[in-house]
Amino acid sequence: GANRAKNVLILMSDTGGGHRASAEAIKDAFRIEFGDEYRVFVKDLCKDHAGWPLNNMESSYKFMVKHVQLWKVAFHTTSPKWVHSFYLAGLASFYAKKVEAGLKKYKPDIIISVHPLMQHIPLWVLKWQGLQNRVVFVTVITDLNTCHPTWFHANVNRCYCPSEEVAKRAALDNLQSSQIRVFGLPIRPSFCRAVLVKDELRKELELDPELPAVLLMGGGEGMGPVKKTAKALGESLFDKELGKPIGQLIVICGRNKTLSSSLQALEWKIPVKIRGFETQMEKWMGACDCIITKAGPGTIAEALIRGLPIILNDFIPGQEVGNVPYVVDNGAGVFSKSPKETASLVARWFGPDSEELKKMSENALKLAQPEAVFDIVRDIHELSREQGVISQISSSLTSSFFIPSSPE
Ligand code: UDP
Repeated sequence: GANRAKNVLILMSDTGGGHRASAEAIKDAFRIEFGDEYRVFVKDLCKDHAGWPLNNMESSYKFMVKHVQLWKVAFHTTSPKWVHSFYLAGLASFYAKKVEAGLKKYKPDIIISVHPLMQHIPLWVLKWQGLQNRVVFVTVITDLNTCHPTWFHANVNRCYCPSEEVAKRAALDNLQSSQIRVFGLPIRPSFCRAVLVKDELRKELELDPELPAVLLMGGGEGMGPVKKTAKALGESLFDKELGKPIGQLIVICGRNKTLSSSLQALEWKIPVKIRGFETQMEKWMGACDCIITKAGPGTIAEALIRGLPIILNDFIPGQEVGNVPYVVDNGAGVFSKSPKETASLVARWFGPDSEELKKMSENALKLAQPEAVFDIVRDIHELSREQGVISQISSSLTSSFFIPSSPE
């Protein structure tokens, strides 16, 4: 019937926290905006429905981030168009059957890809099945600036770019302006719509109510120079003359258990909280005054929404490089690889340079795009309505006049 709920299939791969976080954000926003008009499935399609090496994407990603040089090589050598399309065409033909089974199972009216490698295969299968005009296919890019060219596919209905820089790249890669929209990176609604009061959060999270707080993290996997930076902060935030702390430290280690247990074992002169994977990042960010992190797009976008000045201390070569100038050039933070330098900067921010901290916080809020995820789902909703009208007209035409389907 005309009023049945539409199926939305979000394709992701659990590489790091970012893609899953964006997928969950879109799912939540659909529910908030449209209730049961849409049924949303978040699927790691490659993991569930294909064999090696695609089902291994997650573990090979983990391997590669530990061996950054290798990741660098992989990112750049797969970049030239003929290399990746040849490579992916090979993979596509091999996995098409399994992907097809996935599409049959979920019968999507709308497919949303939030992963750089999930355009080609599903689009290829849709075309092969003659479904490309019935299913809305959109890409939501989750890199802020220097993104991998496999994100861009000319046959998508929309390509949602988180920044103007990414939109420029999409245009250079032959996407039409009618396909490109710039709304921002999708962040979980629980994050962007939360009304949070710092004093209450500090009570709830059992933090010191008075001392300024720095949040230290490294993405979902707890990467980057977290341990060295924590130790340096343990020194710089302790005023030796007065014999008391000038700040407190919260370290969120994500899934990195080795990191959290080795930090737990240390002695601290300042108040320190060491946590594993947290599910309510908006609260921890809302309770703090600045953040130190690797240049992950998700963490950056969230910190901007909370108005946290950002010290970037690391990046994954390739896709995260461009996130650094995005933050620094917009006056929302600084880049420093040195744990000592980072620690003394935080001490200055919590002491004589508090005006600088305030200014950066204002710049962060200016750059934030908390409504992005809602803009994206509303645009998809419109697309899907247009598509519905077109396919109704064309199916009534075909049934009464038997017009052969137009090429492409
Ligand atoms: N994150 C979380 N709990 C944690 C650590 C991280 O929910 O304990 C979230 C974080 O809020 C962000 C995502 O994981 O949404 C990390 O994404 P990012 O793009 O920063 O880096 P990635 O881990 O994907 O490399």
